[in-house]
Amino acid sequence: MRNGGGAPLSRRARSIQVSPTVAMAQRAAALKAEGRRILDFSVGEPDQGTPAPITEAAVSALHAGRTRYAPAAGVPELRAAVARRYLATGKVAFTPAEVGVTVGGKQALYLACQALLGRGDDVVVPTPHWPTFAECVRLAGARPVFAQTKESEGFRVTARLIGRSLTPRTRAVILNSPSNPTGAVVDPGELMALARLARRRGVTLLYDDTYARLGFGAPSPDLQAARDAAGDRFVVIGTASKTFCMTGWRIGWVLGPAALVEACAALVSHSTQGPSTFVQFAAAEALDGPQDVVDALAAEYRRRRDFVHPAVSAIPGVTCVRPDGGFYVFPNLQAFLDPRTPTTLALVSRLLEEQGVALVAGEGFGAPGYARLSFARPMEELREGVERIAAFLGGLGRG
Ligand code: PMP
Repeated sequence: MRNGGGAPLSRRARSIQVSPTVAMAQRAAALKAEGRRILDFSVGEPDQGTPAPITEAAVSALHAGRTRYAPAAGVPELRAAVARRYLATGKVAFTPAEVGVTVGGKQALYLACQALLGRGDDVVVPTPHWPTFAECVRLAGARPVFAQTKESEGFRVTARLIGRSLTPRTRAVILNSPSNPTGAVVDPGELMALARLARRRGVTLLYDDTYARLGFGAPSPDLQAARDAAGDRFVVIGTASKTFCMTGWRIGWVLGPAALVEACAALVSHSTQGPSTFVQFAAAEALDGPQDVVDALAAEYRRRRDFVHPAVSAIPGVTCVRPDGGFYVFPNLQAFLDPRTPTTLALVSRLLEEQGVALVAGEGFGAPGYARLSFARPMEELREGVERIAAFLGGLGRG
């Protein structure tokens, strides 16, 4: 909560929390600027650069004069490329008219919430959750209803858990698989049960597949079957950010009924008018071009997961679910909390000040007692970082 500092800010602006991941990254950057060596595991973005063919496609698009307004739903070339990629890789059929191009996955989520939700509506958000899920729901005037997954069950979302959280006012359920921050992947059978539940209860399933192509071998859910079961209640939120190392390019998409895509485009036509036109052409190249870069990226993150997860779990007092995708681990640090360091917010602050290691506290993910470590960093940094974390936690003399 912020006050206006003299400016007459709206209740909405005052009620919004700055993303805790961004806040932590800023604190780490400030310490770096003071000349300290900081190992920053707070950021949720690939450490690799954008593959060269994508950058070249952007340059070519600029030279080809792709510098004018694009349609609010995106250029037809990109809408078709997204549809083709989901058919080829996700094995799910959406027509180009059912694809809306957005300024990253964040805007896709924002638009879908604005288009589907209003005051008095409830949205089930399984937790631990990416903080933006809750804030996007609130920005649309609706209320997030948190459904607590359990560490002992691998933080997996089940249809039973969601069913218990539905209220007469529930309009949507947000499902993120693989999950940020836990790395949990939804079981294919559970997704089907959720899709059937969504249709039966008239709620929209907002399926965020941001990390879907960075999976480590867990069975992939059948999205076409889920779509067939849920019908128009199945909506996918996706992005080029992580899959193609394009976080700064700001390209995402919403896949769903054409009427929803049109509503999102209407909102875009009065706000951002969508991502830069030449960037949209580069994203089409990313989706249509060779996909071996994506496989290489997933293999690299798997290698890092195979180091980080056992290393973190081996620290006395720490427990940690093994992520099945994405690039985060979410260790349980409850054993290290005490009256002097009563929260994980306090704990990660001390870790940053004393050892120069940045993690994000679990509080922002609705999971006090945990912290998120992004392993989208080079192996040498990960090795040193885990050593420093172990030294810090060991020095607290608990666990
Ligand atoms: N969904 C999830 C679960 C994410 O972690 C992120 C990025 N942190 C996004 C969506 C959105 O990413 P972007 O806006 O860069 O596409």
